[in-house]
Parts: sequence; C-alpha cells; structure tokens
Amino acid sequence: MGRGVLLVMSGPSGAGKGTLSRRLLNELPQLTLSISATTRKPREGEREGVHYYFLRKEDFERQIGENRFLEFAQVYDNYYGTPLAPVQAALASGKDVLLEIDIQGALQVKERYPEAALIFIAPPSLEELARRIYGRGTDSQEVIEKRLSLASQELEFINRYDYCVINDDVDRALTRLRAIVEAEKSRIYRK
Ligand code: 5GP
Repeated sequence: MGRGVLLVMSGPSGAGKGTLSRRLLNELPQLTLSISATTRKPREGEREGVHYYFLRKEDFERQIGENRFLEFAQVYDNYYGTPLAPVQAALASGKDVLLEIDIQGALQVKERYPEAALIFIAPPSLEELARRIYGRGTDSQEVIEKRLSLASQELEFINRYDYCVINDDVDRALTRLRAIVEAEKSRIYRK
C-alpha cells in the first residue's frame, strides 16, 4: 500500500487500548492515529474530527456505497468505519498508521492488506476487565453487560491476530508494543 506500516489494535473495551495507543502515539512521532467514522452519538467530551467523525446513518451508508471505507462494521447497533483516503495518504507519505478498531474490522483489513500487523490487547482476566469497565462509570448497566458479553466472545479470536499483548501493566505493555512496531518496520515483505 505504501512505505509506512499499518498497525491494527483491537481488544475488549476496558482492556486499555485507549491508554496504550495514546502513550504510543506520544512517543512515536511517525505514528498517526486513524480517526474513525461512527453513527453512535458523541459521549461527553468527545469532539468531531478528534475522537470520531460522527455521521448520520444515511451518510454512513452512502459512504459505504462509495467505497470510502477501508473497513466497516456494526458494533453495539452502530456503524463504525475507517475512512480509506487518509490511511492511504499517510502510508504513502511514509507514516505509520494505527487503527483502533474491533475484530470484525481488523479481519477485513488483514484480508485487504495482509502486511497489516494485527495486535490484540488482552486484559489480564475477565474479572479485571469487569472492574475496569465498571470503574470507568461512563456507560449504563445495559451497555456494560453488552460489552462484557462481547468481550468474552472476542477473547476467542486471539488466534486470528499476529500479536497478543497482555495489558497487565501499562509500562510493560508499552515495551511490548514498541518492540512490535520496530519488528514490523524491519520486516521484509514477500509478494
Ligand atoms: P466506542 O463506542 O467505545 O468508542 O467503540 C466501540 C467499539 O468500536 C470498540 O471496540 C472500537 O474498537 C470499535 N471501533 C472504533 N472505531 C472503529 C472502526 O473504524 N472500525 C471498526 N470496525 N471498529 C471500530
């Protein structure tokens, strides 16, 4: 696709993807985060074009028809997708790109770009995951239960990924992620 590497990070919500990706992006100036589009409503503090591009369902569906997404999926009754053009532009200019997306999306990316590195961020345990999600306090009971049940399903997909990073400790997880980025940048691709 280009000269940069494409990193795809997923894992159950509450596994710590957000914290890890923020820290990684701060450390690595050549790494850029893809901003996804979604039809879900903004949460408090979320800003258009920073956290997501918030689209109406009709607009999202029109853009699907126009092949404007690298991948898209329905997660918790809403659409989420990665706008294709910015990813292509960043990779072509030599930047590395990080996607923080769900498993359905990650597998679509891998089909389209087998050289993408799929990284699964796993919580140390489901009990710890539940504690983190409850502690965050941003979601209703119903949403929390949906997230936990999806999380246990998601954990079964680890073997479809290239790497699994267990987020038992943020600093240790970051060390692992840095090593993965370096390894991917050193990879020789065979056609
Ligand atoms: P949230 O609503 O908590 O921001 O995100 C819910 C889920 O959607 C998370 O698992 C997140 O990784 C996933 N997600 C966010 N953006 C995208 C995207 O562009 N594509 C896909 N497939 N999933 C996404």
